[in-house]
Amino acid sequence: METNLSRRGFLTGAAVTGALAAMGLAGCAPQVSAEGNAKAADTGAATSWRDKPEMPTEFIETVDADIVVVGAGNGGLVAATTAAQNGAKVVVLEKAGAIAAAREAIGALNSKLAPDHKVDVPTLLNHANMTQSGDANMLMYKTWAERSGEMIEWMADTLGPKGMLFPFEWHAPDDEHAYYPAMCYNPCIGEYNPDGPNYNAYAHLSVLSDVFTQDLGGEIRFECPAQQLIVDEAGKVTGVVAETEGGFIQVNAAKGVIVCTGGYGANNEMLADLAPGNSAWCALRDSVTETGDGIRMALWAGAELEAGGACMIWNRAILPDGFEFNEDRMGGDIFLPGSQPFLHVNVNGERFMNEDQCYPMSYAAGANQPRHYSWIVWDGNYWEDIAQFDTCGCSRLYPAPSGTAFNADVYDCEAMSKEHLDEFWLNPRLEAGTLKKADTLEALADLMEFDADQKATFLATVERYNGLVAAGEDTDFGKPAYRLSDVETAPFYAARIGGELLVTIHGVITDVNSQPLKGDGTVIEGLYVCGNDQGGFYPHNYPSNFTGINAGRVATFARIAAKHALGVA
Ligand SMILES: Cc1cc2nc3c(=O)[nH]c(=O)nc-3n(C[C@H](O)[C@H](O)[C@H](O)COP(=O)(O)OP(=O)(O)OC[C@H]3O[C@@H](n4cnc5c(N)ncnc54)[C@H](O)[C@@H]3O)c2cc1C
Repeated sequence: METNLSRRGFLTGAAVTGALAAMGLAGCAPQVSAEGNAKAADTGAATSWRDKPEMPTEFIETVDADIVVVGAGNGGLVAATTAAQNGAKVVVLEKAGAIAAAREAIGALNSKLAPDHKVDVPTLLNHANMTQSGDANMLMYKTWAERSGEMIEWMADTLGPKGMLFPFEWHAPDDEHAYYPAMCYNPCIGEYNPDGPNYNAYAHLSVLSDVFTQDLGGEIRFECPAQQLIVDEAGKVTGVVAETEGGFIQVNAAKGVIVCTGGYGANNEMLADLAPGNSAWCALRDSVTETGDGIRMALWAGAELEAGGACMIWNRAILPDGFEFNEDRMGGDIFLPGSQPFLHVNVNGERFMNEDQCYPMSYAAGANQPRHYSWIVWDGNYWEDIAQFDTCGCSRLYPAPSGTAFNADVYDCEAMSKEHLDEFWLNPRLEAGTLKKADTLEALADLMEFDADQKATFLATVERYNGLVAAGEDTDFGKPAYRLSDVETAPFYAARIGGELLVTIHGVITDVNSQPLKGDGTVIEGLYVCGNDQGGFYPHNYPSNFTGINAGRVATFARIAAKHALGVA
C-alpha cells in the first residue's frame, strides 16, 4: 500500500513554475505531459462521436463476472468495492495504466462523523435548484443529501483500518448565503494537522483500490478500454466489449454494468458539440483519458443525454502576453490565487461583476467580457487582504482552524504564509512575465497594454472601487464588505485570468438508482451510469459553493448503483 504520496521534493518553489500546468494537472496526480494531454484528446476528426462502431466478431478472451465496472476512478472504485464487499465477483476495466487521481474534498451531509454540523436539506435543495435554473433533478439532489452521510461513514469504516482519517472542513466565513461549508471531508492518511500544512492527502483512492484488489480479491484490468456495451434482444445490457493490446475481450456481467468514465473533457468534438460556449475560454485542461466513452456507450444502448452542456471550470489559469484561446485549451499556467475575490476589470478597464462568486461563475463572467478573459488586480497589502477574505474549500490560501489544508500535496500549502505565497505562486509568474507588477497604477495600466481611453477608465474604476471599499458597501455589484479590499498601496499587481477546464459535468439521464432512462421513461436493464457521465445535477454550471459536492455525489451514486444491481438494501 502506498502511504507516502508527498511530492514535495518534486514540486516545490521555483521548480514548480508552470510545472503543474506542464503536467496537465491541477490538484491531481501527474498523468501525462501537456503534450501528451493534448495528444490524448480525441479530436474526433475522423468520425462523429455519436457514431456507434461495428461490434467485433472475434474475441481473444471471454470473462464472466457478476458486476463489470468501467473506469477505475472516484466512482468506479467505490462501486467496485461496495459490490465486492457484498460478495460479488467484480471486474474493473480501466483505459489508463493506473487508477484515476483521487479527489480530495468529498461532500457529504449530516453524517455521524460530524454530528454537530447539520445542513437543512430543503434549504439546500432550493439553493441548488436556483443555481441550475430549475433544470436539475431535485430527486437526485435529495437522494444525495439523504444518502451521502452513509457513504462517507462507509468510506471511513472501510479505509479507517488502513490508516485513513476523514477530517471535516467546517470553517467558513460567517456568510450563510454564500457557502455550504458543513459538508466537506478531506481524507488523509496517518496523521492530520488541523492548522496545516498536511502532505498526506490524495491517498484514499489508492487505498480503496488496495482494499478492492488485495483484501476482497477484485480484479482491475489496466490499459483495457471498454469499447461498447453488449445488449441482448430485450434491450438488457449483459456485458462489455473491451480492447486489449492483443485484441478484443468480452466481459459478461450477470448482475450489472456500472459505467463511470469521467465525462468528456478530453474529447474536443464532444466539447464543441455539447458545451461550446461554456468550455471555449479555457487555457488549461485536466481531462486526459476522459473522452466521453461511457456517455457514448450509454447513448448507443438507448439512453438519453440531459439538455444543457456544462463543465467544471476553475478561474485559475494565468494567461501569457499574446495568448490565443485554442481548441486544445492549453497554453496557460495554473495560478491558485486567481480565485481570490480581488478586483477584476475587463480589457477596457471596467469592473463588471461581484468578484465573490463560485469559481465557475467568476470564470463565466470574465469569459463573457471582450476578449473572453479578465484582469485580476491587487495591491501591496495582498496578504492581509487574503486573510480578510478567508475563503474556504480549494480556494483557501490562509491558515484557518478546522479548515483542512487543502491540496497540500500538489500545491505545497506552505503557501499559507506570505513568504511561501511569494516564493511558490507570485515570484515565478513575475519572472515569467504573466504577473505584472508596478509602483504606480499608471505604470501598471501600461503593463496591462491599455490604450489611453482604457487607461483612463481603469484608473477611474480603481478610484471608484476604493471609494466603495472605504464606504464598506459595494453599491455597484453587491460584493460583501469582508471581500472588499482597496487598491491603494504600492506595489500594484495584475494578471490575465482565463479558465481551467477540470471535467465535464452534464450527462446521461438516470433515475435515483443510477439506471439510465430511455425516452419512454423505462430504465435500461443491466446498466448503471455514474460519476461525471451521470446527469441530473449540473446541466448549466458547477455550484462550487457546495464544497466537494461532485466527489460526494459521484461516490454516493456509485455506491447506490452497486447495491441496487445486487439487490441489497
Ligand atoms: C484537478 C481536479 C480536482 C478535483 N477536485 C475535486 C474535489 O476536491 N472535490 C470534488 O467534489 N470534485 C473534484 N473534482 C471533480 C470530480 O469530483 C472528479 O472529476 C471525479 O473524479 C469524477 O469521478 P468519475 O469516476 O466520474 O471519473 P474519474 O475519477 O476521472 O475516473 C474515470 C476513469 O475512467 C477511465 N476511463 C475513461 N474511458 C474509459 C473506457 N472507455 N474504459 C475504461 N476506463 C475508462 C479513466 O481513465 C479514469 O480512470 C476535481 C476534478 C479535477 C480535474
